Amino acid sequence: MERRLRGVEIVAIGDELLSGASLDSNAVTIARRLEPIGLRVTRKTTVGDSSTQIAEAVRSALERSAAVLTTGGLGPTKDDVTRNAVAAVFNRELEFREDLWHALEARWAHRGRIPETNRVQAEVPAGAEVFPNRRGTAPGIAVEDDSIGLCIMLPGPPHEMEAVLVEQVVPFLEERTGPVGGRPFRRTLRTAGIAESEIAERIGGQLDDLPLDVAHLPEVDGNDIRLTGWATDESEICAVLDEAVARLRGILGAHIYGEGDVDLAQVVGELLRERGLSVAVAESCTAGLISKRLTEWPGSSDYFWGGMIVYDDRAKVDLLGVSEKTLGRYGAVSEETAREMAKAACHQSGADAAIAVTGIAGPTGGTEDKPVGTVWLAAKVRDVVVVGRRYYPGTRDMVRARAAQGGLDLLRRTLLEELA
Ligand code: ATP
Ligand code: MG
Repeated sequence: MERRLRGVEIVAIGDELLSGASLDSNAVTIARRLEPIGLRVTRKTTVGDSSTQIAEAVRSALERSAAVLTTGGLGPTKDDVTRNAVAAVFNRELEFREDLWHALEARWAHRGRIPETNRVQAEVPAGAEVFPNRRGTAPGIAVEDDSIGLCIMLPGPPHEMEAVLVEQVVPFLEERTGPVGGRPFRRTLRTAGIAESEIAERIGGQLDDLPLDVAHLPEVDGNDIRLTGWATDESEICAVLDEAVARLRGILGAHIYGEGDVDLAQVVGELLRERGLSVAVAESCTAGLISKRLTEWPGSSDYFWGGMIVYDDRAKVDLLGVSEKTLGRYGAVSEETAREMAKAACHQSGADAAIAVTGIAGPTGGTEDKPVGTVWLAAKVRDVVVVGRRYYPGTRDMVRARAAQGGLDLLRRTLLEELA
């Protein structure tokens, strides 16, 4: 099995990409489209609409890799200088091509006479191969030289770029790379309640002997671990991926709540369904987020009783039945209040299980002993109540999203332990 394949580099061209006016989505499309034919993007460079910058970037990219794809700067205007810059890198003259000019004229036929400024779009470096662009005027252009390498210029507008790439450049490259040396096969494990650095520390070198890439993907509400193995056929890499997943499950245990794009609320819903339990939710700072998450899954009425948004203390007392004494003595954001909220949610609803959340989402309202991000979570399953304090960093939105995920996760763990 070949692990490292010949890479390609991307040079994205445009002042608007440097200034932040446009996002370089072309590089993302290119990387995704090349992966299935076993080509990896090894570096991306972004430069402005300047011949010098483009030539420099393409030249150094060609020194590192056999093929370079550029996007942008193929239009008819003054700032479109990619053709000239790349022609210079390959020491070629620009050549006016009648066939390209006729094609441009034909495109313009229904609009009248084509402006002379478009003539530059019929100019390509001598000996270049041209990939027609059925969505626009600028064709893709490939220039190749045995000692310099291969450069393929693609138009900038994303829908044009993608059409030329998919319909012509991918088959062109596929022919050149020969039979696919390999493509990536991936498995993703989702975790909750464990920091990225702790995951890395626990894993240590325990996957080093496997021919896989391990990527840590921090998300707002948890950290994913993505394993990538390259092979021509899934059967070659399947056992390796299975082994890595088994080791990670051994190392991280209950921190892993699922694989692929599974959602934690879905996992919790399935656990409740399997056990024939119902759940009620009492939410303060998350104000309905947990209820929303649980009800995103069809069939959630099988286990979801409902939720109460008890934001103000009066709602906690009047709607839920939390005692004024508890609130007065310990405050709304406290272990005691969270515990009482979970108990009261079960009491009011008759549900078998509950999640309760109370915290300070910020940006104001924090104190020295209860800073912004302090959240108390409670989960109740039958007679077992588990309460935990968390500190979630981030903006108000992030704290709320993390608190909702934390509440769901606490119920998941309680369900697993209580009924193991
Ligand atoms: P045109 O013929 O339209 O001038 P072009 O090949 O010269 O095409 P540019 O002028 O560089 O391409 O860009 C045209 C449009 O495509 C711009 O509006 C730009 O926002 C968009 N674009 C260019 N490069 C990218 C990129 N890498 N990712 C996403 N959009 C891009
Ligand atoms: Mg342009």
